[in-house]
Amino acid sequence: MVASESCALDAVGASFVRDVEPGEVVVFEPSGVRSIREHCGECKPSLCVFEYIYFARPDSVIDGASVHEARVRAGEFLAIKQPADADIVIGVPDSGLDAAVGYARQSGIPYGIGFIKNRYIGRTFISPGQKSREDKVRIKLNPIASVVRGKRVVLIDDSIVRGTTSKRIVNLLRDAGATEVHFRVTAPPFLNPCYYGTDIDSRENLIACRHTIPEIAEIIGVDSLGYLAQEDVHCLADSSACGGYCDACFSGKSAPSPGLSTKKAKGGLRNEKLFRIL
Ligand code: SF4
Repeated sequence: MVASESCALDAVGASFVRDVEPGEVVVFEPSGVRSIREHCGECKPSLCVFEYIYFARPDSVIDGASVHEARVRAGEFLAIKQPADADIVIGVPDSGLDAAVGYARQSGIPYGIGFIKNRYIGRTFISPGQKSREDKVRIKLNPIASVVRGKRVVLIDDSIVRGTTSKRIVNLLRDAGATEVHFRVTAPPFLNPCYYGTDIDSRENLIACRHTIPEIAEIIGVDSLGYLAQEDVHCLADSSACGGYCDACFSGKSAPSPGLSTKKAKGGLRNEKLFRIL
């Protein structure tokens, strides 16, 4: 059995054997299993760091590093570098929850469950239109008013892309009675479209390209806003056996595999990743 995430193996009771390596092609034939590796030559591994931040399920293990632990760690980094005076820490389900645990543990501020997620609706950032995305946020998340009412809330999410979803989530909290909202993001500002994973077609659609952090805070309506530091991104999964990460959506520095032309890499890998997240 081969799966894009280890949690799929757990679900069917399969045992994890090993990761498919960067550039490796594994061929299953009647005569057995073989690997093809030579076609890549010497290439530097460049695992998508956004797998640890958002794409992967927290019960997955990538290259030997737990996604859950990486997200908890992001929350701990944020608590140290982006502290807040607050009464409760909550996460935006699902990928903000693990980091909220880390932020609460590191800061000493109690952790709470602030939102209940409707489990019958998909991820919002891949919805085709703005109206569709906003409708889905409303249906997808419902705040627990008794948890946040009258409280200064630290709200943890994995990213701010266009800003519209974040603004809507903050409004939900305010309507539920939160007195302050301190937004913390488990990634650096999202500055570059990615052809491999996030399906953002233009920098125009990225709020961090057009606004400063204080401006974004004002637009989404929060009392303070803090992002994960760029230098902490590569420390999220220290135990990973991966030899290097891509962080181009934050840093702008990418290293396409020398074995593939950029054009081929864009088409092929984009389709593979979209297939998986859809
Ligand atoms: S640029 Fe794309 S592949 Fe690289 S870290 Fe960002 S989402 Fe992942």
